[in-house]
Amino acid sequence: MSALLEVRGLTVAYGAIEAVRDISFVVETGQIVCLIGANGAGKTTTLRTISGLLRPRAGDILFDGQSIANQPAHAILGAGVAHCPEGRRLFARMTVEENLLLGAYTRTDDGVTTDVQRVYDLFPVLGERRHNKAGLFSGGEQQMLAIGRAMMSRPRLLMLDEPSMGLSPIMTQKIFDTLADLKAQGTTILLVEQNALAALALCDRGYVVDLGRTTLEGPGHELLADHRVRAAYLGEG
Ligand code: ATP
Repeated sequence: MSALLEVRGLTVAYGAIEAVRDISFVVETGQIVCLIGANGAGKTTTLRTISGLLRPRAGDILFDGQSIANQPAHAILGAGVAHCPEGRRLFARMTVEENLLLGAYTRTDDGVTTDVQRVYDLFPVLGERRHNKAGLFSGGEQQMLAIGRAMMSRPRLLMLDEPSMGLSPIMTQKIFDTLADLKAQGTTILLVEQNALAALALCDRGYVVDLGRTTLEGPGHELLADHRVRAAYLGEG
């Protein structure tokens, strides 16, 4: 296996506040890796820095062996990193299809129509409602659309920030099943979640982030069985 993404000693600060302190982790090609941790642990900041929306204070980010730490966001997207942000950030007054096409705006090839159809195959409800405005959708449907939009850039790495936020357990399971399908189709995934149970059950490797640092790491099933994880993140103890 080879590392598609490698984060080395990453530190990110908002003024005097260090939100991320010396975080290191690796996402191997073809894997699902998750970062779990409490609210405010620094997970969103980490994803935003990988995407080029924030600049690191220290450390490096390697994508496919090349440093992307100081590249502009559009170049990082162009290199193959898609970011499905917290809160979905859809264009509420635009239709499903318009939102999907915006996800392909950096592309110049002629495969966009095929890829729109691929998203409809993945999420049939989006195909049925392709001309409806995104703002009228349920939370789960909006999350499907946000994932579909991110997939429209044909990413090599799909990063998702809290896809289960606000969703019912059934809808969360549906979204997580889709992530397993995307992995089976060859997409590498970096997932940030507060729903530690669902995320650890799905991922190949997990990292626990606490106050800006990674405190534990291991295969998802091992972290699920770890008494410290169970006490802190699964409400046991
Ligand atoms: P959440 O699940 O709430 O998104 P998180 O683990 O993703 O949590 P971050 O959003 O990365 O955590 O926040 C990490 C720390 O940085 C928190 O203490 C937060 O208050 C702080 N922070 C986040 N954004 C800003 C900002 N724009 N300005 C100042 N501090 C910020």
